[in-house]
Amino acid sequence: MDEKRSFHMSPDEFSRHGHAVIDWIADYMRRVEDLPVMSHLEPGAVRSLLPDSPPQHGEPFPDMLKDVNRVILPGITHWQSPSFFAYFPANTSGPSILGELLSAGLGVQGMLWATSPACTELETHVLDWLVGMLGLPTRFMSGASGGGVIQDSASSAALCALLAARERATGFRSNEQGCDGRLVAYASTQTHSSVEKAVRIAGIGRRNLRLIDVDGQFQMRPEALASQIARDRAGGLSPCFVVATVGTTASNGIDPLPTIGRICRDEDLWLHVDGAMAGTACLCPEFRWIHDGLEYADSYCFNPHKWMFTNFDCDCFWVADRTALITTLSILPEYLRNKATESGAVIDYRDWQVPLGRRFRALKLWFVIRHYGVEGLRFHIREHIAAAQEFAAWIEKSPDFELAVKPPLNLICFRHKRGDEMTRAIMNRVNDSGALCMSHAVLDGRFTLRLCVGQTLTTRLHVRRAWDAVVSAAREERTHT
Ligand SMILES: *Cc1c(COP(=O)(O)O)cnc(C)c1O
Repeated sequence: MDEKRSFHMSPDEFSRHGHAVIDWIADYMRRVEDLPVMSHLEPGAVRSLLPDSPPQHGEPFPDMLKDVNRVILPGITHWQSPSFFAYFPANTSGPSILGELLSAGLGVQGMLWATSPACTELETHVLDWLVGMLGLPTRFMSGASGGGVIQDSASSAALCALLAARERATGFRSNEQGCDGRLVAYASTQTHSSVEKAVRIAGIGRRNLRLIDVDGQFQMRPEALASQIARDRAGGLSPCFVVATVGTTASNGIDPLPTIGRICRDEDLWLHVDGAMAGTACLCPEFRWIHDGLEYADSYCFNPHKWMFTNFDCDCFWVADRTALITTLSILPEYLRNKATESGAVIDYRDWQVPLGRRFRALKLWFVIRHYGVEGLRFHIREHIAAAQEFAAWIEKSPDFELAVKPPLNLICFRHKRGDEMTRAIMNRVNDSGALCMSHAVLDGRFTLRLCVGQTLTTRLHVRRAWDAVVSAAREERTHT
């Protein structure tokens, strides 16, 4: 028998199987609406369908695709279903998937400008575009003192911001000496858990994270922030970092940036603004009020991988002073030395993030922006918000339900007037039905349903069906109890 020279997939085979995969995805887009939204498998169910050991010899590609249907799909919760309203959206779109595919095909490492100039320059350029598209402060532009970078997640953005804040506050000495336990960071009780994680990783210590009280709309109380800072200074501590959120995860609370920003300016604290989901709304000028006061921010991030039709991972992160970030994260081992870096004329994004290596993520974002155009993106964001607001109006008119907070954008928090038990029973009923998927939060100690409208294919019709499902679940629950 002839010895085989290579086991690689040839370009011809790749083309054939690749077309089959694209067709599979197109078919999935057509039918995802009809699949049960949430996977209800028992733990271990997927593994029980997998062989104990890997194949010794390569298998035909069509068998793999068959097993995606047999083994994988039953274990998928369909985030791309238009009736997925849980947590936050994690949407995607045709142009995004194709950009991702090209990125995988090119397989470049974008750690340095020199390792693929297009990877860096497209990223810088698209992030400059987004400054204009979202109406962000111009100091975030790469041509000014700042600049943008794509991170894997809002969690990484918060960590990088905190590390730079820590360095700035210590005259860039804590990289050298470590932390002395006196630096203090501030967030609200509603801030995303990634901030506590960042505080732990950055060596600030959880004890030195102050969770500031919120008002009735779950927005940080600036006077509580100011007095906590004063108490900490009086106690000999060094306040250094404040996180404000536009669109908190539980309830979409919008922290009052102008007042928080002025406190940060007067106290010389790094202000990081987290707009992970809600930031996308600022594509539309009528929602840009949520960013009032952003001019005080040292850094800002939002996730196109939540609500801007770009598949995970893609978090856009900007700083007003790129030197602080780069000084904090730059390391130049001999094997990475090159002429372009030494000339100072280029951006090396490995100095803007924790890992060294980086994917070519700007490609999918560029494709999304070019496919939809700014007006196309605005159209869909407005549709989502209008649909969510319509749902809120039905709640307000209903004798049985009430809003937990007045919804600013696309997230509706509501509950049944009979209380926690009824509200939870309704959630379980609709989720078990497979027709849609919602999640919950606890607000003011009360069990609250969250309906978040932001999946790519979600329209008013799906939101209407969700309301009908909620109403009939409540009716069934009443007749059974
Ligand atoms: C979702 C979310 C995050 C975390 O986002 P990742 O990109 O998954 O890290 C952070 N902050 C807010 C406000 C969020 O809604």
